[in-house]
Amino acid sequence: MSFDSFCLHDSLIANIKRAGYETPTPIQAEAVPHVMEGHDLMGLAQTGTGKTAAFLLPILHRLITNPARTRSPRTLILAPTRELAEQIFRSTLDFMRGTRLRATVIYGGVGMFPQVRALRQGVDVIVACPGRLLDHLNQGNVRFDGLETLVLDEADHMFDMGFLPDIKRILAALPAKRQTLLFSATMPPAISGLAAETLTDPVTVRIGHLAPLSTVEHAIYPVSHNQKAPLLLHLLGEAGKESVIVFTRTKHRAKNLAQQLCRSGHKATCLQGNLSQRQRQIAMDGFRRGSFQILVATDIAARGIDVSQVAHVVNFDIPDTAEAYTHRIGRTGRAERDGQAHTFVTGEDMGMVRAIESHMKKPLPRRNVEGFEPEPGEFRRSAPAPRSAARPRQGYGAPRQGGYGDRQRQGDRPYGDRPRGPRPEGARADSARDDRPRSDRPRSDRPAADRPRSDRPRTERQPSDERRSTFGLGGADNRSGNQRPRRAYNDGASAA
Ligand code: AMP
Repeated sequence: MSFDSFCLHDSLIANIKRAGYETPTPIQAEAVPHVMEGHDLMGLAQTGTGKTAAFLLPILHRLITNPARTRSPRTLILAPTRELAEQIFRSTLDFMRGTRLRATVIYGGVGMFPQVRALRQGVDVIVACPGRLLDHLNQGNVRFDGLETLVLDEADHMFDMGFLPDIKRILAALPAKRQTLLFSATMPPAISGLAAETLTDPVTVRIGHLAPLSTVEHAIYPVSHNQKAPLLLHLLGEAGKESVIVFTRTKHRAKNLAQQLCRSGHKATCLQGNLSQRQRQIAMDGFRRGSFQILVATDIAARGIDVSQVAHVVNFDIPDTAEAYTHRIGRTGRAERDGQAHTFVTGEDMGMVRAIESHMKKPLPRRNVEGFEPEPGEFRRSAPAPRSAARPRQGYGAPRQGGYGDRQRQGDRPYGDRPRGPRPEGARADSARDDRPRSDRPRSDRPAADRPRSDRPRTERQPSDERRSTFGLGGADNRSGNQRPRRAYNDGASAA
């Protein structure tokens, strides 16, 4: 199949060629014709499948071929994080090249005025995070009377991050007669509810639902807490110059680890919620351009970021849920390229390893790296079954009641930045790790002074069976499953 079969406008075909896309990805092949016909769509697809172009191309085709008389927003794309919003905005600009269309991006943490000016000048496409867009709506800076298409991207993340009430307020300001496209990697009950409320007679397109990308090779590294950093340095030494994203559990760990990597001579940066928007942009741009080889990030800061050349994802700390594992490794092996996912596990992580394996419906190969084997007995302790909520940990980073440990479970947020409202029913507990700058948080999470009076609450004070045999084999490269031979980390290339 080729892009020509979609009968897209010539300028879009030229821009697709310029982007280097030769054939549509499966979600593009399935979704583009339905969106072009004007159907509502439920896209069950994870990041890395090419879903951005799957919705942008048919939307832009319609905007180009049916020009409007006035320039008011005809398409609104909502995304959970600034990074994802920026990324979609960039793709929009790339695909719009050579047309008369205009787009803008709206998110918090930066000045309102340039956004107000862009909105007043008139745009065809708005890409936005819900919180700041709601501010503009409330201040009368934007109207959606002429809106034709709404896209809700990464709807499950928006829900996890507590944006559902904001989204519902935005929906109330949109014309009822419109096309709505909803994309989500998972389908918790709240998202089914949102889909039932917002979509009319939708077509469902399901690509790689809940399954990690097939182009990714996985490995589990049993290791003691104090050997994680040395093991990472060892693996980086073998990674050559390929790009690496390293995930840590907290902002402080991301910052400290990035500093440690720099001290060891690596070109590393970090992406975590304590950074200003400018610092985040510098980190992301530097990583995209290759001036930083390693990006150390927390889950929320890195949500949905697309760096197509990422070769390795290292889970320095195991994620809190099996779904989070899928989202993390979605950063590598993107668009049919090979990638590797390396997960460091300590004895207490074995319950989560089992949860991830059952989620993926296959065992993950273990690798013991000589010189970094866990301490004897570490994996003989019985690992507790994972809770769906963020687990209290033993040993390193153990939470103490009411003390620093509690702050760690809260994602190291300063006390004043914690959400005040209850977590939405069914939202995953890892959403409590709120990495967003204040202005990108849902309205209910913001300090009272940031909220309009009507939104304020009345009172403002307000393993024993851990496959011992697999680990016990203890080979330097102890695989299970039908794995392809390892590529980069075994190639003996020297450090960058
Ligand atoms: P997305 O899932 O939209 O974040 O896309 C993931 C990556 O795949 C991005 O780097 C896109 O530029 C790239 N991509 C999307 N569609 C194609 C395609 N048809 N061929 C090659 N790369 C693509």
